[in-house]
Amino acid sequence: MGEIGAAVGSVRQRIAAACDRVGREPAEVRLLPVSKTVGPDRVREAVAAGCLRFGENRVQELVAKSDALEDVVGLSFAVLGHLQTNKVRDVARLAAEFQALDSLRLAAELDRRLQREGRQLDVLVEVNSSGEDSKFGLPPADVPDFVRALAPFDALRVRGLMTLALPSPDRRLVAECFDRMRQARDAVRQTGVPDFDELSMGMSGDFELAIEHGSTVVRIGRAIFGERR
Ligand SMILES: *Cc1c(COP(=O)(O)O)cnc(C)c1O
Repeated sequence: MGEIGAAVGSVRQRIAAACDRVGREPAEVRLLPVSKTVGPDRVREAVAAGCLRFGENRVQELVAKSDALEDVVGLSFAVLGHLQTNKVRDVARLAAEFQALDSLRLAAELDRRLQREGRQLDVLVEVNSSGEDSKFGLPPADVPDFVRALAPFDALRVRGLMTLALPSPDRRLVAECFDRMRQARDAVRQTGVPDFDELSMGMSGDFELAIEHGSTVVRIGRAIFGERR
């Protein structure tokens, strides 16, 4: 087994151990390898290790990689990054999942393009759980109203929330971000929205803590593919 296959195995073990610590089942946590900046040949190594969905944060790269990996049966992509409306067409055409929905304008444009393609898309709403100015995403308190306003867009399957936590060595502050996410998700569920289960939170540096605080999707780049150049 190559280096990437071994890294996938090691991340899976760490996911299982984190689940074990809090009495969760590893099957409740989806590993989403993030292949941004990683070439198609190295993505194939992760495919050989059993990964079939990959996260990308630039649409140009999504287009190029979809093309280069066209022969891989069952391969799909999740778009993680902030999206400009002029890139919506490619996402509607190629992505299986969009994790960075943060405006109604974008939702309307995505829905329009998806209707035209005859497709549906799983979407997660991006939340600014840390309150940092530099972050995209909605304040947690705005999430229930925002999700309610997405109801008319029937090409969007609204499945949950995504965040980038505070990049801090203080685990308590990071955990607070994750807890705010869980509260925001539960607030939406209480309004009666069905299938609103997903909490995409946790990256290479904080995924075990995220799992301990309820993550259902961990987005892992460097711990699988190594440092990005
Ligand atoms: C790059 C990226 C990741 C992965 O980060 P690592 O630290 O490499 O695991 C996760 N989520 C988003 C939105 C990203 O852009």
